[in-house]
Amino acid sequence: MPGQSSTSWPDLPAAQQPQWPDAAALAEVQAELASYPPLVFAGEADQLRAQLAEAARGEAFLLQGGDCAETFAGATADGIRRRLKTMLQMSAVLTYGASLPVIKVGRMAGQFSKPRSSNDETRDGVTLPAYRGDAVNDYAFTPQARIPDPQRLLRAYHTSSATLNLIRAFTTGGYADLRKVHEWNRGFAATAANQEYEALARDIDKAMKFMIACGADFDALKSVDFFASHEALLLDYERPLTRTLDEEPPLSEPVGSDVRQGGPYDVSAHMVWIGERTRQLDGAHVDFAARIRNPVGIKLGPKTSVEDALALVEKVDPYREPGRLTFITRMGASTIREALPALVEGVTRAGAQVTWVCDPMHGNTITSTSGYKTRRFDDVVDEVRGFFEVHRALGTVPGGLHVELTGDDVTECLGGAFDIDDAALATRYESLCDPRLNHQQSLELAFLAAEMLSQ
Ligand code: PEP
Ligand code: MN
Repeated sequence: MPGQSSTSWPDLPAAQQPQWPDAAALAEVQAELASYPPLVFAGEADQLRAQLAEAARGEAFLLQGGDCAETFAGATADGIRRRLKTMLQMSAVLTYGASLPVIKVGRMAGQFSKPRSSNDETRDGVTLPAYRGDAVNDYAFTPQARIPDPQRLLRAYHTSSATLNLIRAFTTGGYADLRKVHEWNRGFAATAANQEYEALARDIDKAMKFMIACGADFDALKSVDFFASHEALLLDYERPLTRTLDEEPPLSEPVGSDVRQGGPYDVSAHMVWIGERTRQLDGAHVDFAARIRNPVGIKLGPKTSVEDALALVEKVDPYREPGRLTFITRMGASTIREALPALVEGVTRAGAQVTWVCDPMHGNTITSTSGYKTRRFDDVVDEVRGFFEVHRALGTVPGGLHVELTGDDVTECLGGAFDIDDAALATRYESLCDPRLNHQQSLELAFLAAEMLSQ
C-alpha cells in the first residue's frame, strides 16, 4: 500500500521511553501519525547520504547544529530565522575559510524529546518525573505537567512541519542567497566575531562580484540545501512515520551508488541519530536505525570500544554504503586525544567507511558553582582541536561538527570573547536542557574550526 507504515517491529528492549498512562490514547495518536504526510522525501534523504559520503572522503564538511531540545514555544518565525542565520553564517565562514562545501543539517524541526540520566527530578524536596521534551511532557514542575501526554506527539509533528516549512521558504526563497551574506549578520550585536564576520562577508562579496564580472552563473547560489535531523528517541513517534514511499516521484537522477530498495524511510527527518544512552546493540533503537534507509548517526562516548563500534557498523551498515553511517564522537576535551585514536584506527582497519563527526558539547558538561548546567567554551574548542589533531595524525578524515547552539544572545556556556562567567549565567539562561553556544560563541567556533580545517 502506498505510504503505508511498516507494521511489524520486533519486540526489543527500548531504553528511555515514556510510560504513557493510556495505551488506547497512544494507539489513536499513532494511527493518526501514520495517516499524516511525510515531512521529508526519501530522495532528499538519499541526497544527504550522498553528501555525507563526500564528507567521509574529505570533499565536504558537515555542520549539524541547533537546540539541545527544541520547544513548541520556541518555534517562532524569529527564533527559527535566527538559528538558521547563525548556521548560514557559520557555514559561510567554514566554506570560505576552508574552501570546502558545507553540508547544513539542523538539529531542528523534530528535536522535541530528550533522554535523561535520571527518571526523576527533585526540587526543594519534591520529586516528580523528569521532563523528557515537549513531545512527551511539560517542563512546568507540577505533577500534572509531568505526566506523559501522547497528544504531544501530534503537536511535535505539526511544529516540525511548520518549522520545516519556514526553513524551506527561507532557504529556497532567496534568503539564503550567498549575495545576502551581509544581511545574515543584521540584528546581531556588534561583537568581535561579528566584525570578523563582516570582514569575511566583504571578501566573499568581492570574490562574487569578480566571478559575476567574469560571467559566472550564480543561480546555484540562490538556494541552499538545508536538512533536518533529530535524535530518533521516541519510537512511538518515529515508527508511525516510517514508510515505504511508493507515491514519491522517482528521482530524475539516481543518487550515489545506492539502490533505494524501496525503503522504508523515516520521513520525520532527513537524518536521525541514536544517542549514547540508547545505542545498545540488541536494543530497539539500533534495530530501528538498521531498518530505515535514511543516513543515520550514532553517538559514541569515551568508553566505546572498537568492538562496540564495529558491531554497530556490522548491524547498521552491513553493506558499507558511503554516507550511510556517521559516528558522532563526544569524548570530552580531556579524553578525546586518548580515547579517539584507537577507535578510529580500529574502525578504519576493518574497512568500514563511516563519516567521523565531532560533538564537542556532550562530553564537556559541568555544573557551575552557582548550580547551572554549563560548558566552558574553551573545552568545546579544545575538543574540536583534539578531533582534528587525532584525524590528522591518523590520516583519516574529520568530517564535521555537531553543535548545540542558538541564534540568541543567551548566557548558557562559560567564556568566549564576552567571557561569560558564573555570575553571568543567570542573566539569560533559557535552555530547558543542555547549555547552547550563543550566536557570538557559535561564530567564534566557526572561525576557529575553519582555521583548523584549512591547515
Ligand atoms: C544530545 O545530543 O542532546 C544527547 C543527549 O547526546 P548524547 O546521546 O551524546 O548524550
Ligand atoms: Mn544535549
